[in-house]
Amino acid sequence: MNTCTNCQTQFEGRSNQKFCSLSCKNKFHNDKNREKELVVTQVNKILHKNWTTLHRLYEIYRSAPISMDIAEAYGYNKRYYTHIHNSPLGEKYTMSYDVGFKNHIDNKIQIIVSD
Ligand SMILES: [Zn+2]
Repeated sequence: MNTCTNCQTQFEGRSNQKFCSLSCKNKFHNDKNREKELVVTQVNKILHKNWTTLHRLYEIYRSAPISMDIAEAYGYNKRYYTHIHNSPLGEKYTMSYDVGFKNHIDNKIQIIVSD
């Protein structure tokens, strides 16, 4: 007797057979993939939150320098960004898709939206 890896049902089959049915085999692998992709889903959520937060702050402050503390109070998570954009002037922007900021000394940031 074998025990199904997915549903734990006892079944007759080859000694190395792990699943009682094709649907149990599929379900098991689908669940495993979903678990594996959870980290992607979680990071995407944070990136999306950063994107909405920066756009919201841009609506309010435009490109006036603001404290990073304000951005964080609005929900910005500075550990996550999509890419770094280097402007032709040699300035480095930390981007969340089409919106980003450059750092000033004194913990202030200046938001820009790329067009
Ligand atoms: Zn099963």
